[in-house]
Amino acid sequence: MATAQTICYRSDSYRNWVRGSVGLGYLQEGLQVFAETIVQTEHRNILQRIGKCGKCSIESIMPAHAKQGHCIQKNRRRCNCTKKGNIYCAVCSKTYDEIIIQHRFIDPNWEIDSAGLFSDHWQFAKCFMTTTKKESNNTAAETDAACLLSIIINGNFFQAELDTIIDGENDIFSQAKKVRNAILHSSKLELTEDEVTEYLKTMIDVLQDRKVLMNDKAAQTAVTKITYIMNTKFVITTGIEKSAIESAQRSIKGTGELCENGLKELTSQSLAEISRAKEDAIDEIEKNKPKDRNASGAGIAIGQDTKTKEQ
Ligand SMILES: [Zn+2]
Ligand SMILES: [Zn+2]
Repeated sequence: MATAQTICYRSDSYRNWVRGSVGLGYLQEGLQVFAETIVQTEHRNILQRIGKCGKCSIESIMPAHAKQGHCIQKNRRRCNCTKKGNIYCAVCSKTYDEIIIQHRFIDPNWEIDSAGLFSDHWQFAKCFMTTTKKESNNTAAETDAACLLSIIINGNFFQAELDTIIDGENDIFSQAKKVRNAILHSSKLELTEDEVTEYLKTMIDVLQDRKVLMNDKAAQTAVTKITYIMNTKFVITTGIEKSAIESAQRSIKGTGELCENGLKELTSQSLAEISRAKEDAIDEIEKNKPKDRNASGAGIAIGQDTKTKEQ
């Protein structure tokens, strides 16, 4: 039977970190369809209500609230109402305000491609992400779990689709965001068994929100997968480990977060360790072969990925 190469040479706490990171990938898969559907509907509603422009760039819009004389955005310095020379547009000025009002913390992200704001619902979604860059997260599929959670937490229009009351701090969606940071900011890429169990449970709770997600096929498939890695002795292959590390790196890069935890260094070191340890393991197997072909030396066990007849 062909089996993937299995790595058992790292500590349990490191393998728990890989489980947590893999769980985040499943959480993303489970939230993606839900988030995109709600964003699409809201985007369409706003276009119908306010209209469509496409000629103005975000940077040059004078918000409608500028006429009131006081800023409605949390951070006035980031608001266009202070920019002299910006212009009013019947559609864009109102849309600008609408996005601020729809944001839970009246603090939208304006790092978007404004040319696409009216034609691409995901540029509208990006206004509700907490940290992102212009070149990242431009489709739902390439948006990581943290940014999807931010959109759900920050976009007031999501509340009607949730059983959970979002308070932006202690609700289960906000907790899941903290979980994501705890996993990706873990300086040693290690988690205890209790930590990873708690984190995976939080992800499941999010995906089982009783209003819509409970009946969402993608969300429930993700629940099955997360439950599996929570309850089953999880076999981590080099492939799984590599993709966990790569998605963690992508996630950190996409939001423009600083790798203050040294994830970059640790992971390049980690990837080098994978290949080194793999070679060691193969040597070890070769050495042990004549005596006992099933033996695995010094805590190293590696599956065989060649077709071997089982006896
Ligand atoms: Zn303002
Ligand atoms: Zn306009």
